[in-house]
Amino acid sequence: MSSKPIACVEVPSTANIHCPFCGQQVLNPASEDPENYFSVCHHTLFVAHDMGFEFRSERFDAAAGITGVDGDDIDLPEHGIDGLTSQVAIEGAVKFASYVPPPSFYGSYVGFAPTE
Ligand SMILES: [Zn+2]
Repeated sequence: MSSKPIACVEVPSTANIHCPFCGQQVLNPASEDPENYFSVCHHTLFVAHDMGFEFRSERFDAAAGITGVDGDDIDLPEHGIDGLTSQVAIEGAVKFASYVPPPSFYGSYVGFAPTE
């Protein structure tokens, strides 16, 4: 089985991110409530930022080879979580990345894939 690598799309850091498959708003960077700034749908592969993962689906863990691995114990490649999430090959998957402007360069990443 061969899968294409995940497609990466850069969006502004203020963008609300919606699932391209069902339209649900998954990331709301303007949320006043830090606990509820994201809300995953069943297409969501991961919600992450440079400091770690907020959400990892079973499909993402399997594709990234990190099933059962604690977030702190993930062996990150060059470019950290940005690099790891860009390597994952799941058919039809899309990753949205946003970067806060300099000097922060702080990145947020949300991935989606169609359900089988
Ligand atoms: Zn969805």
